[in-house]
Amino acid sequence: NSALSAVDPEVAAAVGAELNRQQTTLEMIASENFAPQAVLQAQGSVLTNKYAEGYPGKRYYGGCEHVDVVEQLAIDRVKELFGASFANVQPHSGAQANAAAMFALLKPGDTIMGLDLAHGGHLTHGMRINFSGKLYNVVPYHVGDDDHRVDMDEVARLAREHRPRLIIAGWSAYPRQLDFARFREIADEVGAYLMVDMAHFAGLVAAGLHPNPVPHAHVVTTTTHKTLGGPRGGVILSADEEFTKKFNSAVFPGQQGGPLEHVIAGKAVLFKLAAGEEFRDRQRRTLEGAKILAERLLADDAARAGVRLVSGGTDVHLVLVDLREAELDGKQAEDRLHEIGITVNRNAVPNDPRPPMVTSGLRIGTPALATRGFGKTEFTEVADIIAEALKPDFDDTKSKALRARVESLATDLPLYPHLNGGF
Ligand code: PLP
Repeated sequence: NSALSAVDPEVAAAVGAELNRQQTTLEMIASENFAPQAVLQAQGSVLTNKYAEGYPGKRYYGGCEHVDVVEQLAIDRVKELFGASFANVQPHSGAQANAAAMFALLKPGDTIMGLDLAHGGHLTHGMRINFSGKLYNVVPYHVGDDDHRVDMDEVARLAREHRPRLIIAGWSAYPRQLDFARFREIADEVGAYLMVDMAHFAGLVAAGLHPNPVPHAHVVTTTTHKTLGGPRGGVILSADEEFTKKFNSAVFPGQQGGPLEHVIAGKAVLFKLAAGEEFRDRQRRTLEGAKILAERLLADDAARAGVRLVSGGTDVHLVLVDLREAELDGKQAEDRLHEIGITVNRNAVPNDPRPPMVTSGLRIGTPALATRGFGKTEFTEVADIIAEALKPDFDDTKSKALRARVESLATDLPLYPHLNGGF
């Protein structure tokens, strides 16, 4: 803190203000979390100084004996955590992990299938102006109009018709589990690879609370900062050692130069923590919180305000609020929750009539609050605050009262208390 404040008071002030924002508001962006202090420390360490192109034991630089230890620990731990035979922990982000996995398996012009962005897919699953949409011929699949579940019959039909080289299963905004076995069956039938992008739900998988895609897929990618709650970064996993060379050379030198060994140290710490009981308990509370939120938003008064849920509920760490029948649009709802100290993001719902900058939905997640210590009582309270805020009788008086309830929750379960006055 003091070194940063002395050298650069402007950056120090912004970092301090961000710490204060995180401490005094309730973070419910489904893809965010709070990294433990041990991870922050690893990331802020002198490992940031080291070049280590290559892999443990096979580097293109001298002096790698200590970062080799760190990277090998991260590899061994993540393999153990997810039951994989191969792991690459170097991707700088989830998007980089996906790009490398796709470069390894595909040639430009090949056909890929992924969940449509407007139905909950990710940019890297074939969005038009993403590398995935520019390099490959994209055939998107969708969720059903009524049940909002991935339409596996459509996946099978499109796969038979278009013979993709790769099918991607995974999502950024989808409140249910996927049928990995069925995806693999379809991939095998048409001679495609199956890639599962478990970025969002990897923490639940690690805790044994969600089916593990590793035994079903040719390759699994993930981020390490969403439900997993570690440093920002990506990982590539496979149950099959056959792909080791392909994936490793697609990451380096295919995609990236020097690995971020300080971030890899953070990943190693995360994977150690993720094997423990405290982590499992946190993932249990994450799921419980999302269920509590779904139940509250399905109650009569919320329904009268036009609040509905995509797919009618949740099996994961998030709910997707469907505001197509509400007075509020996604932008107004996001702003309203921001006003009372709850951070969420607006999100398109399937067949959304509104433009992407407005949308008719909200994506609300529970991982960060579970990390903060929220359990049944606190999630019940926050669910009620959100339901109240989305009603038509919202005004200044109500806003102040709800903001006070948010502040009280934030005070009861302080975040990073040891960082007060420093970071
Ligand atoms: N894959 C999925 C399913 C995601 O939701 C995201 C991020 O939102 C990513 C990949 C990309 O991760 P990153 O932001 O680290 O590039």
